[in-house]
Amino acid sequence: MSQDTYVNVVPTAAHATETVTRLRATFQTGHTKPLAWRKQQLRALRTLLTEHQEVFEQALHTDLGKSATESYVMEIGFLVAEIDHTLRHLDRWLRPSRVSVPLSLMPARASTVREPLGTVLIIAPWNYPLNLALAPLIGALAAGNCVVLKPSEVAPATSAVLAHWLPRVLDPQAVAVVEGGVPETTALLDQRFDHIFYTGNGTVGRIVMAAAARHLTPVTLELGGKSPALVEPGADLATAARRIAWGKFMNAGQTCVAPDYVLAIGEAGTEMEAHLTDAIREMYGPDPARSNDYGRIINERHFDRVAGLLKDGRTVVGGDHDRDARYIAPTVLADVDPDSAVMREEIFGPILPIVRVPDLDAAIAFITGRDKPLALYAFTASKSSKRRLIAETSSGGLAFGVPTAQLAVPGLPFGGVGESGMGRYHGSHSLDTFSHTKSVLDKPLQPDTLRVTYPPYTRRKDRVLRRIM
Ligand code: NAD
Repeated sequence: MSQDTYVNVVPTAAHATETVTRLRATFQTGHTKPLAWRKQQLRALRTLLTEHQEVFEQALHTDLGKSATESYVMEIGFLVAEIDHTLRHLDRWLRPSRVSVPLSLMPARASTVREPLGTVLIIAPWNYPLNLALAPLIGALAAGNCVVLKPSEVAPATSAVLAHWLPRVLDPQAVAVVEGGVPETTALLDQRFDHIFYTGNGTVGRIVMAAAARHLTPVTLELGGKSPALVEPGADLATAARRIAWGKFMNAGQTCVAPDYVLAIGEAGTEMEAHLTDAIREMYGPDPARSNDYGRIINERHFDRVAGLLKDGRTVVGGDHDRDARYIAPTVLADVDPDSAVMREEIFGPILPIVRVPDLDAAIAFITGRDKPLALYAFTASKSSKRRLIAETSSGGLAFGVPTAQLAVPGLPFGGVGESGMGRYHGSHSLDTFSHTKSVLDKPLQPDTLRVTYPPYTRRKDRVLRRIM
């Protein structure tokens, strides 16, 4: 299906108000609460993803030059697995959970019940434009909410596919896709939502949070940052280099959890230069521009930003770039100054600087002296180094031996801390995010065991209360 078969509605402030009012009215009817409705939405989404795979793969290729395999592994297949995991466990996750009651309140029953929040807004970015729009949508629907989804205008082909297909397969009374950029998002942010789930950069994250504050709306902010890949001598560095290269150069480095830079302890730095060079050649051949498996930079603005960082070190491998093709070769830089631009800002492109530190103490000081990253990766053979990294550093997630794969474990929460964001999702954590956990206490009126707590207080009542509380 070609892109121009899709009709893009340009929303205005009035359109935003009308959309949110309509979804709120749907939510009020209780239409989205039954488990059967939620499961039916998830199954419909699953069918769409599996039966129209090629439409999504084509859109992702148009936007980002992604190979069909990478699109499947990182986006479509990921989402299908997330839906399956949710469908498998949803009954259990939604079951009220019993809580014990203190002696002073007995007899009584206490439990927690999850209830949907209402109408939620999901704002998605361009780098995994399908995954990062639909993974939160899965959680929001599973929790029984109405949803306004705002895909990224920076990935227009995927945005158009979502705007075309979602209203056709999901309940249009409960799910709306609003396409557009800053004016449309601003119009949406003026509305009152019951939760806003934003994925993108921290500057816009602050705008979202300020807008949400006007309505006291809770937010999840899935942001980015510089995720280090720490490498210690003594680890299997050839394998470490292959895995770091895989995590870094997929999607041409435009992955929020990609290793941003290598933090090499001692001699590991020199060895990594050679191993990373080999790994890049193995994966993308002598000329990555000709590899079908290597992506492109999303647009000229981002190309100019990333290309500007190429000069910030000695080029070990790569460095070639072509603005017309939005191509930047997988590049490794060494002898990088920790104060240079490439080490100050999130790279979000296919440049991998190697920074050297003398020992683990210096590595930990380097990490903890900067903003808390979305992920920390470490390649080490030492159990004591692992223990120290767990105890002495803070990051959204920590993975030993492999980058980015923590996202593929549905039981693990995904989210940042500090500058890398707030809140978490995936699997049951999505349900936590998009539900309110309501406490329910049920105490029978008879026998009236609370008599002892009513005034007037006597010495006897006082003694009893002090004993039982
Ligand atoms: P982007 O430009 O697509 O922006 C994200 C969303 O914000 C879009 O829907 C866009 O329309 C909206 N937006 C942009 N400017 C706005 C404004 N002024 N007001 C209101 N809305 C606005 O994506 P991006 O921010 O360039 O994405 C890259 C960043 O996102 C990186 O920092 C990356 O690390 C981070 N990221 C984080 C995750 C995660 O899961 N934690 C995932 C992907 C990307």
